Amino acid sequence: MHCYDCLAADRTTVAAAVCGSCGAALCAEHVHEERKQVRQVVGMGKATHDPPARRLLCAVCSYATHKVSTEDEP
Ligand SMILES: [Zn+2]
Ligand SMILES: [Zn+2]
Repeated sequence: MHCYDCLAADRTTVAAAVCGSCGAALCAEHVHEERKQVRQVVGMGKATHDPPARRLLCAVCSYATHKVSTEDEP
């Protein structure tokens, strides 16, 4: 499989990852690694200490994710 973003630029680069949102194949240059935020609950008898989950996204999905999270804030 070849990187989808590279194909759009008329390049063929072997993909190293797959976007977890849209499924596009991505090379190491185009993959965006997201770390899920760990919410810590204090005073409820439960705290999350799990390591942040890894999510691989393409540029489009990474941008969309950040855009949404930004819009959530006032
Ligand atoms: Zn690429
Ligand atoms: Zn994507």
